[in-house]
Amino acid sequence: MGAEKITNEQIAEIFKELGAILELKGENPFKARAYYNAARIIEKLPAPMEEMINSGEIARIKGIGEAVIKKSKVLIETGQLPYYEKLKSSIPPGLLEMLKIPGLGPRKVRKLWQELGITNIGELEYACDVNRLVSLEGFGLKTQQKVLEGIKFLKKYSDKHFISDGIAESELIASVLQEFPKALQMHVVGSVRRRCEIIGEIEVLVAIECELRSELLNFIKEAFSGADVKEKDENIVFRSPGGIPVVIHLVDKSSFIPALFYFTGSDSHVRMIEKLLIDKGYRFVKNAILGKTGRVNLNSEADIYALVGLPFIPPELREGRDELELAGSGEISELVKMSDIKGCFHIHSNYSDGINSVEEMVIRARELGYSFISISDHSKSAFYANGLDEARLEQQWKEIDEINEKYPDFRVFKSIESDILVDGSLDYEDRVLEKFDFVIASVHSRFALSASEQTERVLRAIRNPFVKMLAHPTGRLLLARKGYEIDLERVLREIAKLDKVVEINASPHRLDLDWRWGKLVRELNVKIAINPDAHNVDDVSDVEYGVYVARKAGIPGRNILNTWSVEKLEAFFRKKE
Ligand SMILES: [Zn+2]
Ligand SMILES: [Zn+2]
Repeated sequence: MGAEKITNEQIAEIFKELGAILELKGENPFKARAYYNAARIIEKLPAPMEEMINSGEIARIKGIGEAVIKKSKVLIETGQLPYYEKLKSSIPPGLLEMLKIPGLGPRKVRKLWQELGITNIGELEYACDVNRLVSLEGFGLKTQQKVLEGIKFLKKYSDKHFISDGIAESELIASVLQEFPKALQMHVVGSVRRRCEIIGEIEVLVAIECELRSELLNFIKEAFSGADVKEKDENIVFRSPGGIPVVIHLVDKSSFIPALFYFTGSDSHVRMIEKLLIDKGYRFVKNAILGKTGRVNLNSEADIYALVGLPFIPPELREGRDELELAGSGEISELVKMSDIKGCFHIHSNYSDGINSVEEMVIRARELGYSFISISDHSKSAFYANGLDEARLEQQWKEIDEINEKYPDFRVFKSIESDILVDGSLDYEDRVLEKFDFVIASVHSRFALSASEQTERVLRAIRNPFVKMLAHPTGRLLLARKGYEIDLERVLREIAKLDKVVEINASPHRLDLDWRWGKLVRELNVKIAINPDAHNVDDVSDVEYGVYVARKAGIPGRNILNTWSVEKLEAFFRKKE
């Protein structure tokens, strides 16, 4: 074939995979073991397989049967093995990758696939986050923790990362740079500053005297030893402790403000503003803005926007879409801020698939300065998540009543994350639904319906008079799975028409509703709830990521339920047509 000769290691690797695939498919374990054995022997053969087959020597090796020899011949002659290709294509491709996670063998991966429907590492990571492995036979909380660590390790050097990791790692780097003993000015820039949902690298802008640059390089080398710190053009590059590529842009002091604007991006936003600057007779270069009489003196980014008659545009909005329009409308000052947030909804407890008790979640929310939450556990058809039947609901409501009495300045709303069944109905009867303060409806199954079927299903749920809120409207898991097919515009229009609420799921794995729907959401005045979908106390503060999404979407605080008072919420929830 003229191709590179296949090595014994490569042949062995294919037999190992064959064994794994057979195990994943749940076939006879002896068959799998025969392939594993063959692989082990082939790895240790004293000569290339091809030579040993040609000389007939291979027949004398114990553990290498006729079938293995035949398959090896095909591999050697053609570089391919149709049997292997066919077998491989009969399982989801992500399963083999899951085997790379320490502690996960084919039998465990098969169980995750068969019982939880998990088909890739991204889905598995999310499943761990929502405690799906805790009650799975043969797993448990400890195994779940180990699997999660294994995934973090595997993902360390991938080229895409959640914004939550980008923020945490960039803050760590900034805190180290702050320790540099000489004067420098710095700011995180790029996609992390814009709070993009997925980031590829961390960019930090540093203004520093030219003669201090080599000192800074050495300082970073020492602080991040083993991080492969290098100089590249005008930058210092390395890997963050969590494995994310870091670029430190070095500029001199007088260039800090224009460079801050430039490196924050996005490219298309910078071009938009540059055009306006040119119209006003300025010239924009990366490190300066030049007027007719020379360099324009800038004290802040707001000065740049002021040159073209605009208010300061927050970094989250700088995506080159409709931010100029938004800035012109005066709505930027209305954008929701973290400090506007008074509480949140969609919190799970240990009644369903959460780790913590209702009261522990309340205590966490109070620590964050909140004055309300809603407990929204899974409904009864969510058997995989220990969904609540009516008896356990009664028990939970009693507990919530007691907590509301114990914390008179705090309000726990009685809610539920009710599964939307395939026909669009919910899984409790009206006489149960009417007892909640409000109902959240979610799609958790049958993702493969056609767009029109899925849309009708969700529309029917929204029209249910007890439903107030639609959770994670596309079901996407970032870096793991696309959302289901759905006509989201129709759904949003219906939500607006019926004065209901769509969730921005604030889990960094979801961030669903996507911010790119912002323009339509604003036009329709759709009400939004920023929900952490918390499954343990640590998740409650994920609200922060949802706030970034809402800001990227340009949504004013008044349309976000989290900014409302308990009284206003009560009145809104009571209103049922
Ligand atoms: Zn859900
Ligand atoms: Zn949930």
